[in-house]
Amino acid sequence: MSSEPNCVFCRIIRGEIPATVVHRGDACLAFLDIQPLSPGHTLVVPTQHYPTLDRMPEQLAGEVGAALPRLGSAVMRAAGATGFNVLINNGSDAGQVVPHLHIHLIPRRAGDGLGFRWNVRGYQPGEAERLAESVRREMAE
Ligand code: 5GP
Ligand code: ZN
Repeated sequence: MSSEPNCVFCRIIRGEIPATVVHRGDACLAFLDIQPLSPGHTLVVPTQHYPTLDRMPEQLAGEVGAALPRLGSAVMRAAGATGFNVLINNGSDAGQVVPHLHIHLIPRRAGDGLGFRWNVRGYQPGEAERLAESVRREMAE
């Protein structure tokens, strides 16, 4: 099992620093975020240290992902919420601060004032098909 000595989430998993745990699975641990965006804001972390989603083995990612429907539902209902966001900040340029993959479950309610800025842009002619072709090529490797 891979564990990093100085990683804050590995330290929580090893029980070296406290956390408010809501679920313990074989592949993941879930605990309340110390600075919640809404009550019940939960972090789901793989019990092994992987910095980002794209560096995780598919099987393990599947095991962590399998916990999300029931856990998301439990967090939402316990928080008295009516929806939730599932968010991964994957990589520092995407806003990741703690370099141990974690999935945010953020309970939401109508009118709660939370939200994202979606600065949408269009595609130039041919750009979408070129991008799609690149993705298909990358997937084939
Ligand atoms: P990121 O920006 O990396 O996606 O989010 C990191 C999250 O981890 C933040 O929401 C932050 O509040 C949370 N966090 C950082 N350190 C700790 C900690 O020691 N305990 C808990 N429970 N959450 C933490
Ligand atoms: Zn770690």
